[in-house]
Parts: sequence; C-alpha cells; structure tokens
Amino acid sequence: MSDFAARLTFANGKTVELAGPADITKETTEAIVNAANSSLLGGRGVDAAIHHAGGPSILQECKRIVAKIGTLPAGKAVITTGGRLPAKYVIHTVGPVYRGGQQHEAKTLASCYRESIQIADDHGIRSLAFPSISTGAFGYPVHQAAEIALRTIVEALPHCTHVIQVRFVLFDIATSNAYVQAAETLSQQPRAISAVFEKGPS
Ligand code: ADP
Repeated sequence: MSDFAARLTFANGKTVELAGPADITKETTEAIVNAANSSLLGGRGVDAAIHHAGGPSILQECKRIVAKIGTLPAGKAVITTGGRLPAKYVIHTVGPVYRGGQQHEAKTLASCYRESIQIADDHGIRSLAFPSISTGAFGYPVHQAAEIALRTIVEALPHCTHVIQVRFVLFDIATSNAYVQAAETLSQQPRAISAVFEKGPS
C-alpha cells in the first residue's frame, strides 16, 4: 500500500510511513507487529483482530513458543507466520502497562520497537507495519508513546540490512494525528534525524 498520512524519507531511500485511520490486519507489508500480552493467547484490541483475521495457526504457534520459553516479558518480541493474513509474518511484542511513567515504561516501550525491527531484519524482512503499542488497553499516553515509537524506529532503521520500509498503521484519527505531529517535530531536530518529512494524500 502506498497510502500515507505522512512520510519520512531518508537519504538512502528508506521510509517511515504513517497511515490512518487504518486496520493493520489488511496490511500488505511482509510482517505486521502485534501488541500482544505476555500469555500470547490473544486478548482484546489489535491482538484479537490479528488472531481473528489470521486464523488459528497463529495461536497454535504462540502456544508452542510459550511451552518452550514461558510467557513473554514486556519489551520482548517473538515471530510467527501470518496464517491467513496478507502479511507473511506476525511479530508479537508485549508493551508496558502504563503506571504513571516511573516504572521504566519508556524504556520498555522502546525495547518493543527495537526488538521487533531486529527480529524482522534477522528474518530478511523488507517491510514491516506497527500498531500503536500500549496506547489502548495498556493506557500509555499517545503523544509520549508516538515520540518514543518514532525516535526508536528512526534510530534503528539505518542499521538494518534488510528492512527498508516501516509503516505505523493507526486505527483512529486521534492516534494518527499524534504520530504525524511527532514525526514532524522529530524531523525538525536535525541532530536527531536526517530525513525529509512530507504530508501525504490520505
Ligand atoms: P495495548 O494493550 O498494547 O494498549 P490495544 O490493542 O488495546 O493494545 O491498543 C493498541 C492500539 O491498537 C490502539 O491505538 C488501538 O486503537 C489500536 N488497534 C485496535 N485494533 C486495531 C487494528 N485492527 N489495526 C490497527 N490498530 C488497532
């Protein structure tokens, strides 16, 4: 998909796109990221939508992973196939529950994005879509979460061998607007980022 609300383009041609309002289960990137919970047994929100659209094979793989390594701590990520989804893979990561900001939530949230893009790169994946991790049931304030999400991906993307495109697929207009604003602010800090910011057609 090439619809985007805003885009950052780096000198080497890699891009970070923000799309929304949109449903991540319809994404045609090679992998999508799931905002899971530690049990990996499915839950509400985007987690439920991904398992519903992808079918039971994703849950079976998640159960095998938990049997092998135990429940997944916040900040970590694992990969499964995408079942019936257009995406070939799902990367499951567990965001922090927001408890006021003094419980290492920012560090844990950044780790979700870093681990997910690292796993994608390790699997030779070229395009990857994220939802807004932790800003639903887990209660992370969306403007803060957007800043952390974008900064972490913008820092990690240049080091990737395979990943060339990252999309943030944002379910509602308020979340989409928060991410566009965070991207614009980040692009105005030349020390933090060297990318061209543009608003898109959608
Ligand atoms: P968390 O528990 O990490 O907060 P949630 O699923 O409750 O996860 O919410 C995370 C974000 O995902 C929220 O912004 C929510 O609106 C969004 N979301 C829910 N369904 C979808 C979907 N189908 N595609 C993309 N984002 C979604």
